[in-house]
Amino acid sequence: MPTETFEFQVEARQLLQLMIHSVYSNKDVFLRELVSNASDALDKLRLAALRDDGLDVDTSDLHIEIETDPEARTLTVRDNGIGMSYEEVGQLIGTIAHSGTAQFLKELQEAKDAAGAEGLIGQFGVGFYSGFMVADEMTLVTRRAGEDRGTRWSSRGEGTYTLETVDDAPQGTSVTLHLKPADPENQLHDYTSPWKIREIVKRYSDFITWPVRMAPDSKGEGEETPGPETLNSMKALWARSRDEVSDEEYHELYKHVGHDWRPPLETVRLQAEGTFEYQALLFLPEHAPHDLFTQGYRRGLQLYVKRVLIMDDCEALLPPYLRFVKGVVDAQDLSLNVSREILQQDRHIRMIQRRLTKKVLSTVKDLKAKDAERYATFWREFGAVVKEGLLSDTENRDAILAVASFASTHAEDEPTTLQQYVERMGDGQDDIYYMTGESRESIENSPHMEAFRAKGVEVLLLTDPVDEVWVDAVGEFEGKRLRSVAKGEVDLDAQGDVASGEEREKQGEEFAGLLGWMKEQLGDEVKDVRLSSRLTVSPACVVSDAHDLTPALESMYRAMGQ
Ligand code: ADP
Ligand code: MG
Repeated sequence: MPTETFEFQVEARQLLQLMIHSVYSNKDVFLRELVSNASDALDKLRLAALRDDGLDVDTSDLHIEIETDPEARTLTVRDNGIGMSYEEVGQLIGTIAHSGTAQFLKELQEAKDAAGAEGLIGQFGVGFYSGFMVADEMTLVTRRAGEDRGTRWSSRGEGTYTLETVDDAPQGTSVTLHLKPADPENQLHDYTSPWKIREIVKRYSDFITWPVRMAPDSKGEGEETPGPETLNSMKALWARSRDEVSDEEYHELYKHVGHDWRPPLETVRLQAEGTFEYQALLFLPEHAPHDLFTQGYRRGLQLYVKRVLIMDDCEALLPPYLRFVKGVVDAQDLSLNVSREILQQDRHIRMIQRRLTKKVLSTVKDLKAKDAERYATFWREFGAVVKEGLLSDTENRDAILAVASFASTHAEDEPTTLQQYVERMGDGQDDIYYMTGESRESIENSPHMEAFRAKGVEVLLLTDPVDEVWVDAVGEFEGKRLRSVAKGEVDLDAQGDVASGEEREKQGEEFAGLLGWMKEQLGDEVKDVRLSSRLTVSPACVVSDAHDLTPALESMYRAMGQ
């Protein structure tokens, strides 16, 4: 087959432009990305070999090799992993498959400063393309395990790339960067220096479970040709004790598994001993990913069995409402051949899920008690997701309510817990009042709020879509009913209202004619027209029955086609 030239997709081209005129101040990370891809490819090959006896591959020496050539100014990262077919190279490298890329570019334009842009790049995992930060040309030669022919991909990162078939490619993938001219001002960025490579691998990829070797210098200075040097320790962080591992090492693992550039908000360790042994290392991110509420969101933890990665996004390990948690679970006694379907049913996996759920919730609780600021960040980013658990996880409902906080009329920018609300309740107030709506502002401007404001009764201001639903499902907190100020009869009389029962009755008779007329005029638009003590300024407002859907929920269900 002749060499074919292809154009990058528009989005890929935009991304490449960004890489070439790099906004990333820390260019070293390109090597982390390439090593991380190589490591993934080795994981995939091992798994394929375990599952498919027919696959004819040698897995006896799986490793990653880095080779530099100062004269030619090239750097090559090579693996003998799964490799890619011709089609796969076009799909995976030639286009940007990630649905989030358009979103990424949009957010990037909105990012105010370089730091923000860096965060975004890491978060969206531009991976392979980051090579163009340091190279003016990249070449990739690959052969898929089990296939005869290989493929060469090459690009200068501008508008196009070429693909051609090659006969003699070794199995696996090698990526060669033709480095940009050296900057005489800045020797620190010489990526052909073994010293530099050693440092970067140690810093970013030490925990990679495959050996990352530096190819021996062929023009070796000494008489004997030195053997290859392994640069990383390959130690599984989750198997090491807490005091042996630095925060930075944990953070690098998080970046690898979490596809995030920034350090995590919190690291959670768990070692389960006994009949079913496993270790878990979980991370709470500091920022919610942009696609957390979309169908395509890839949730789940990495599942290892005795140090072998067997599944990347194992959903069964955590409930959906903790889908933002990243990390690793390494179990001792699971079959390597499990499918996702089997895992969902597996008793041990369910046990792990229960345990991890409790552990995450208790971690948030500790955070709340000990570090108000970080807790506030967590809840701002993930509260809306965690509250989904109030519906789906009745077992942990109390634990979730204990870590939940809500905006309230009590204070402008200090959320309250239900506990605190209850402690502030005045004499004669039996219920916890809330109102749902799109924003704090729209709720505060609602006529429903008038009487509450006038009487100084605190109201929770709930603005997440899920709030509409959980308040009904939960119903009460410590024996106090959760009541919407916009639904049914809300009686503030008990708290010293103006209108006594007798007075009300009199008013009712007085206005009977007017109410009857209004009801007739409005016809089917309303169920009832009645006098209210809830308004102080507005002449009238629309109220739902206690059991009706609220307007926001009605439109949510309508949007879902129900
Ligand atoms: P990500 O790793 O987040 O998927 P990358 O841009 O780093 O994104 O890589 C894109 C895809 O290209 C990978 O998902 C993988 O399928 C493929 N790929 C990249 N490098 C390799 C490699 N060394 N071996 C096999 N496949 C690779
Ligand atoms: Mg990658």
